[in-house]
Amino acid sequence: MDCIFCKIVEGTIPSKKVFENEYVVAFHDIQPAAPVHILIIPKKHIPTMNDVSDEDAAVIAEIFKAARTIAKEQGIAENGYRLINNCNADGGQVVYHLHIHLLGGEKLGPLLSK
Ligand code: 5GP
Ligand code: ZN
Repeated sequence: MDCIFCKIVEGTIPSKKVFENEYVVAFHDIQPAAPVHILIIPKKHIPTMNDVSDEDAAVIAEIFKAARTIAKEQGIAENGYRLINNCNADGGQVVYHLHIHLLGGEKLGPLLSK
């Protein structure tokens, strides 16, 4: 399958990994939008939020548990951070393998701007 995040999971494309367990991998975004910008992804290829099924409940829980752990490890848990999922075209999704952006390390601007 021609999916860059599947290749990152397999290790055929290099990444700066910060976390890995049975269900998820997390690594630094190649184009950081904040001092801390980490992507947390399921090892399973799930294209978008719309494709998450009831059977994926454990995987989704693992993504959020990883976010909590990584935020603490990165030293941003107390000051705070933002978790974002972009879904499909209007959401600005570019890579079609489910991922959550973990952003922090500075005071982030308002989420919604027109
Ligand atoms: P999306 O817009 O789909 O929510 O976000 C995709 C993110 O993946 C972008 O922030 C982009 O910088 C990041 N990205 C794309 N290709 C790569 C890659 O090969 N390696 C890493 N580490 N990040 C990538
Ligand atoms: Zn994939």
